[in-house]
Amino acid sequence: MKTLGNIEKIESMRVDLLKWYASYGRHWIPWKLKPDGSVPKKVEKLPVYPILIAEVMLQQTQLNVVLPYWENWMKVFPTVFDLASALDHEILIEWQGLGYYSRAHRIHQTSKNLINILRDSDHLNPEAWPMDIETWIALPGIGRTTAASIISSAFNIPEALLDGNVKRILTRLIGSQESFSTDLKRLWNLSDLLLDRDSPRDFNQALMDLGATICTYRNPKCFCCPWKRYCFAYLAGNTSKIPVKASRKVLPHSVIGIGVVINDFGQVLIDQRKNDQSMAGMWEFPGGKQEIGEVVETTVIRELFEELSIKVKIGKKLLEFDHFYSHKKLHFVVYTCHLISGDPKPLASVQTKWVHPYELINYPFPAANQKMISAIKDYLVFEKTS
Ligand code: SF4
Repeated sequence: MKTLGNIEKIESMRVDLLKWYASYGRHWIPWKLKPDGSVPKKVEKLPVYPILIAEVMLQQTQLNVVLPYWENWMKVFPTVFDLASALDHEILIEWQGLGYYSRAHRIHQTSKNLINILRDSDHLNPEAWPMDIETWIALPGIGRTTAASIISSAFNIPEALLDGNVKRILTRLIGSQESFSTDLKRLWNLSDLLLDRDSPRDFNQALMDLGATICTYRNPKCFCCPWKRYCFAYLAGNTSKIPVKASRKVLPHSVIGIGVVINDFGQVLIDQRKNDQSMAGMWEFPGGKQEIGEVVETTVIRELFEELSIKVKIGKKLLEFDHFYSHKKLHFVVYTCHLISGDPKPLASVQTKWVHPYELINYPFPAANQKMISAIKDYLVFEKTS
């Protein structure tokens, strides 16, 4: 492993990266442009709210996935005031499919805090927004990298960042043999050392663009990298071994039995997750985890009785599939069910509802449930027409 050496070398690294960025950077990212679509000059500031939304969405999610969500979000909640006054339900509807739903709750709370900070000032004027990183980091869901990205993008303020792409570049640059988590302090220092104080907005974006397009996790395109002559991993022919891979944990695996209870009016029963659960406020079809030695049909009957106080008869198996989360794998087995007795009570949820399948679009569901919704609609159409 090596250090980056003298200040002249660091300066030439900045120059080389910014030159590369001028030719090959992603200059089309909408929240990095002025409202008229032009590229901002160094002294110009950008609207903060669109950048804030984008940066929170970009936590854990790639740019190409975020783009359509961000565009839609800006139509539905065009200002921080629209977001602050929205209902949780409305926010979850727009966030559904992006995953990591706690981000939606936090950005909602952050918008309310920002309203208090902005008070009567003109929210369309970037100067009215906080420009110091401490204020941003104190807001819910805003970490150091998100805060640095917001203020360097909006105000061209020199704050270093360290997202996944930047960590990978810097680790290869110095040939680190440590995992990201044990090398964080050094990587932050390095990002700060390299940052171009004169053009932080472009420099940070250039780093992120380099990581996303050239210094990719697999098969980095070192032959066209502006930093190849400085890069330890490249010069040592070692890019496939750096960053060192963290040992893969085996994900815990559970079987989840789901009951789609359909009444005589063709309505299905859904319930809303509690605030102390993951994916708080989202809706789902009732069910739960299979116990040892239990057949999954029994799981469904038991869970629906325990959670809703209803007795059901199992119908047709609609589908089964695996769904992966960052920390676990679930195998869903989904049955239609017929209600035998009882009125659904939300014993383990906020509330329950009977809804027609065409109304499901008005309720935010976690991604795994979208497959179930398609299967339910197909089933009901088939049942009606067969
Ligand atoms: S030379 Fe290769 S490994 Fe090194 S920073 Fe550039 S793309 Fe990444």
